[in-house]
Amino acid sequence: MNWTHPEFLYKKIIEFQTEYPDFFFTSLDKFCKNQNWNLIPYHNYEKEICEISEDGFCYIDDGEYNIFYNTDKPPTRQRFTISHEIGHIYLNHHSTVEPRLLKYSSKYTGIWEQQANIFAHNVLLPIEYIDNIKHHGIDEISKTFGLSKAMVKVRLAKLNQDKKWFKAIKNF
Ligand SMILES: [Zn+2]
Repeated sequence: MNWTHPEFLYKKIIEFQTEYPDFFFTSLDKFCKNQNWNLIPYHNYEKEICEISEDGFCYIDDGEYNIFYNTDKPPTRQRFTISHEIGHIYLNHHSTVEPRLLKYSSKYTGIWEQQANIFAHNVLLPIEYIDNIKHHGIDEISKTFGLSKAMVKVRLAKLNQDKKWFKAIKNF
């Protein structure tokens, strides 16, 4: 299947959620350790690394995945960034997208970036919980799941699109 098709993306999300059903309550540190992926913090004062990305990026070196993340960003943002990078790994973007483009994602926004964002939204705030908690409001949802309010807002705004694809895939 063509990796750029939404069917590929949503099938991979379902596969991930089946494999790691409690991902959204797991420490990402622990999760990455279990996968043998290196989680490497950096700081705002490390200008050369920040030039690659202010938030984080991921690259393969000698078959090993290295996820870099800016530890000076708010913890909720770090959580999103790392999950976004996990999305790139799980969706095999390192073999389908030119590595240079994966690093400088803020300057080149391709479909892989949208895919990694949709992946992160869904694994951090799974669709099956949303209908039960939606009425609690953005503040409470962001606290419960350790996510930024901005992310929860985007997640809720794009919910129908996600629901449509999950439904379609279950009927395929
Ligand atoms: Zn990215």
